[in-house]
Amino acid sequence: MLGENSAKEQLISAIEKFIALSAVRLSDDVMARLAQMREREDTPLQKAVYDSYFENLQMARNLNRPCCQDTGLLQFYIKAGSAFPYLHITAEVLTQAVRRATESVPLRPNAVNYFDEKNTGDNTGERTPWLYWDIIPDSQEMEITLYFSGAGCSLPGQAKVFKPSDGIEAIIPFVFDAVTGPGVNACPPLLVGIGLGHNIENAAVLSKKALLRPLGKEHPHPKGAQLEKRITEGLNSLGMGAQGLRGNQAVMGVHIESSARHTATIACAVNVSCYMLRRGVMRINSDLSFELPTYHGASL
Ligand code: SF4
Repeated sequence: MLGENSAKEQLISAIEKFIALSAVRLSDDVMARLAQMREREDTPLQKAVYDSYFENLQMARNLNRPCCQDTGLLQFYIKAGSAFPYLHITAEVLTQAVRRATESVPLRPNAVNYFDEKNTGDNTGERTPWLYWDIIPDSQEMEITLYFSGAGCSLPGQAKVFKPSDGIEAIIPFVFDAVTGPGVNACPPLLVGIGLGHNIENAAVLSKKALLRPLGKEHPHPKGAQLEKRITEGLNSLGMGAQGLRGNQAVMGVHIESSARHTATIACAVNVSCYMLRRGVMRINSDLSFELPTYHGASL
């Protein structure tokens, strides 16, 4: 096992490069879905919008620059093995990696602490980067999902707690209003994350976790999967396409994550991602070797 200082330096450097990769390149599932969606659009206007998206993404790779100017605030969803030997330094490593990546990539400094109203300049600040932990018992590995939370796709976020007498159908107009109102400005086609829980905060966390799920993977319950399909089809029949212009597909998909609810509540949160769904996964082993399952052929 490496000494703590060497391990810390090795991890910071690797995660700094992983942040750079995820800022520049979309993960394989998103690229494949956007390519399919371009084929399904049938107007010159929509084809032109998708062509500009792909040209932008290719230029970002050629020039090694972020694919959107709004690199957002960084959120790390961590599945931490309880026996991962560097668990105790992980929070510090991630914060340092964000500082360095802000300089080296570069990322746009976006973090403003609420009551100082001053940009910290390095994308760190109060509870920032945002860290969300799941502890995996007896595992020696750590899996990090990095999400770039831009402003355009954070603004449409909504949450509401319904009465059970409203029924689960009540969430449908709520979701449609979020997508067709502020969602239009969030650079469609969107991925829509819906969290169904027992109160407002667990629904909100689940709605973000829904955006982290790989495209093409359905809700495990058949009724959940059916609701995802129904809402996707409904949103894609609105006549809205890429950039909110006339087209056939407003959304890349709808993902629902759920928990048990209180008998007397139906809590629903909606979170969307723009077409620049920048989320990548890095799996780190106990010897600090790693894999990048969301980026075929990539190295750091
Ligand atoms: S909504 Fe997405 S693609 Fe549009 S400006 Fe914001 S981060 Fe960039």
